[in-house]
Parts: sequence; C-alpha cells; structure tokens
Amino acid sequence: MAENEEKREVERAVIIGSGPAGWTAAIYLARANLSPIVYTGAEVGGQLTTTTDIENFPGFPDAKDGPELMDDMEKQAKRYGARVVYEEVEDVDLSTRPFVLRTGSGQVKSHAVIICTGASPRMLGLESEKTFWNRGVHTCAVCDGGFYRGKTVAVVGGGDSAMEEATYLAKLCEKVYVVHRRDELRASRIMGDRAKATKNIEFVWNSVVEEVLGDTESGPFPKMTGLRLKDTKNGEAKELEAGAMFLAIGHIPNSGFLKGKLDMDDTGYVVVNEAQQTSVDGVYAAGDIHDHVYRQAITAAGFGCKAALEVERYLVRQGLAD
Ligand code: NAP
Repeated sequence: MAENEEKREVERAVIIGSGPAGWTAAIYLARANLSPIVYTGAEVGGQLTTTTDIENFPGFPDAKDGPELMDDMEKQAKRYGARVVYEEVEDVDLSTRPFVLRTGSGQVKSHAVIICTGASPRMLGLESEKTFWNRGVHTCAVCDGGFYRGKTVAVVGGGDSAMEEATYLAKLCEKVYVVHRRDELRASRIMGDRAKATKNIEFVWNSVVEEVLGDTESGPFPKMTGLRLKDTKNGEAKELEAGAMFLAIGHIPNSGFLKGKLDMDDTGYVVVNEAQQTSVDGVYAAGDIHDHVYRQAITAAGFGCKAALEVERYLVRQGLAD
C-alpha cells in the first residue's frame, strides 16, 4: 500500500488487475482524488510483461520494452496517489453494497469496482503439454523464440496470432510448421498471405496435436523432439519433428472468479455496455476481460480511461465521491 492514504473502511474505487487497462484506470481515478486501490494479481503488469519491444504504443518512436512500459504506468499511477496491493482478488460479492472483495490475506469493501483481469493464452489441454511447458511448449514467440534459433519449430493455430508468431519465428528458425485444424485460415488475408509467402514456413492442414513428443529420461529437463498429429479428415496419425511448439489458439478471459456474479458471454468474456458498465451497477470492466476483438495495449488503456471516468460520474451521482 502506498503511504499517501491508509486503507478506508469502505473504499471508493478498487481496480482488479494491473495491465494497461488497470493502470490507466488507476491514473485517472488517482488524478480525480479518488485514491483507488489496485490489486495487481499474481502477474504484475499482465501479458505485456511477456513481450519485448512494443512498437505500436504511440509516443515511443523507438519502441518501448513491455515490462518497462508497465513499470512506468505503475509509477505514474502511484505518483498521483493510487495505492497498490500485490495480491490477487480471489472472490467477490457483488450482491451486497458496498461490494466485498476477498484476497488471500483479507477483504476490502468498495463502492465501485473496475475489473481489468485480462485474458490468458488458451492451451490444448494435453498432459504432455504440461510435461514440456517452457521446455519446448510456449505461448509467446517474441519471449521464447530465441531459444530455438536455427531449429525447426511448430506453431499451432490458424488466426492472426499464429501468422504473426510464425512470421516472427521464420526469421530465427530454420523451418516453421504451422499446424491448423482446418484447410482454411481464420487469419486476415494480409497476414495469411505474408506467412504463405515466407519460404521456410510450411502449412500442415487439417491436423490437430495429439501429443507432444520428447525425451523425459536422459537429462535433468525434458527435451521436446516433435509432435504426434492426427489428420482431422481421415483420422491418420503422423509425426512431425520439431524442437518447440508455440501455441497461438486464442485466449481465455480471466473471469473464473466472477462466474455467476455478472453477465458473461458463452466464452467467459464479461459483457459491458458503451460506458464499460457490467450487468451490476457500480461494477465496470476494461481491457481483454471484455474485448476479444481489438486486444491491443492502446485499446485496453482507452477502455481503462473510459471506465475510470464512468466510475467518477457514478460515485458523484450516488453521493459517494467524498
Ligand atoms: P483467433 O482469431 O480466435 O484464432 C484462433 C485460432 O486457433 C483459430 O484458427 C482456431 O481454429 C484455432 N484453435 C482454437 N482452438 C483450438 C484448439 N483447441 N485446437 C486447435 N486449434 C485451435 O485468435 P488469435 O489469432 O489470437 O486472434 C485474436 C484476435 O486478435 C483476432 O481478432 C485477431 O485479428 C487479433 N490479432 C490481430 C493481430 C494483428 O493485426 N497484428 C495479431 C494477432 C491477433 P479455427 O479457425 O478452426 O476456429
């Protein structure tokens, strides 16, 4: 907790999550003298801390390091009086007023809440995927591609993320397979065409990964050697040699702790209206927790800004801003 204000009996605004949406909301609420509390969650800074150069966040003509950008956002929020708690909110009671949020060490009450818990990469759900996690199995080419310089790797997925990962890896690796479960890409034409035009990218169509193969015996760490694939058309199995598998099969919103407490769509994304408000009056959401379309740092920050401005209005309307 920052030194500028002690915890109140009832907070005016609590922000759950510390990605660009959370920190932007915190900056706006702090500058409005509402001294919000930010619960960072286990992964402080969120998904951007797993990237290196961010080249499309305006204001940084020479690109900006992901963890550094998040660090700067945190500093900026603190400078204006945001209080930061490095804990995860495990449970919420949104049926009472004020709302009650529970963490591992206690609870906090608040008149308003902004949920900015983001999304996590989707996994295939295979046992072998866990065995080789971070030892061949990865979800971020920019973070971990460097380990496979000059090697053969596989990317799984057929969307824009898969094309982006494959094109990036093709610059480092000797060969990149793109394993997709259909014979048609979901990716935008431009990104699909770019990947198809890259000489060392080969598409493996109509295929799903059934098992990650490798050596778990001969050294202290498991070593991935390939994938066992199944043809989705004729059921045939085949093996693909690859030193790594980069999953790019979408994301899952981090909304498990909110289940049954506010409206979500079928895939767990929180439903918000134009004002970032959820189905519960006084509870707002911003960033990848509701946005599965744009998913950019800059849009998340924009949603965080909107949510904070709406919370300020809400607190004033309710006579709870002081
Ligand atoms: P996505 O568009 O949802 O694509 C996910 C891909 O993974 C699909 O091809 C899907 O196959 C496949 N998939 C899903 N579950 C699977 C499973 N269990 N096993 C095998 N394959 C599976 O996700 P995304 O690529 O992460 O993109 C998300 C959003 O971000 C999109 O709107 C995208 O345009 C955007 N984005 C934009 C950029 C950019 O413009 N630079 C870069 C990255 C992402 P099916 O096609 O068969 O469903």
